Amino acid sequence: MANIVKEFVDSAAAIGKGLTITWKNMVAPTVTENYPAEAVHFEDRYRGTHILRRDENGLEKCVACFLCAAACPANCIYIEAADNTGEHRISASERYAKVYNIDYNRCIFCGYCVEACPCDAITHGQGFEIAAYDTNTLVWRKEQLLEPAMAKPESQGAPPRIPPGQKPDIPTTTIVG
Ligand code: SF4
Ligand code: SF4
Repeated sequence: MANIVKEFVDSAAAIGKGLTITWKNMVAPTVTENYPAEAVHFEDRYRGTHILRRDENGLEKCVACFLCAAACPANCIYIEAADNTGEHRISASERYAKVYNIDYNRCIFCGYCVEACPCDAITHGQGFEIAAYDTNTLVWRKEQLLEPAMAKPESQGAPPRIPPGQKPDIPTTTIVG
């Protein structure tokens, strides 16, 4: 008899616990996104399409070290490096990425490239609307990935940051892009 009573009490408690959760969710506000009518709200850690960053002088942070490409498990980053010159300075270092492509047909948004970059040159943005009928358009070029040049007038024509070990007499900066 004692067993039957205990079983009855346990069952009633379990049903009560389950119904409490159900009722709680029935009265809680519905959390959803009203996309595309409203903008999507992202968490800071969301990994969207990539952004190639610029430094405080408007120069590209990428120094074409290829570490991101080496770290990419999907092998979807393609880089061609070129040397900076006095007349044509793109980054503050010796080299810059003349070509920087990410193939979003293959990218799995793992973030390894971002972690591997020693210059914080590549980060994830919050872009996600990249669906396409033509897969060729999913190979994004540097021009699509690059952060726009700074708009502040005082930053235009600012001298380049002098890399460690380099003499300060760097020729005049030309910002392209
Ligand atoms: S997020 Fe991952 S898969 Fe995509 S480019 Fe970076 S390393 Fe490669
Ligand atoms: S994005 Fe970063 S890791 Fe990749 S080539 Fe440029 S500097 Fe190197």
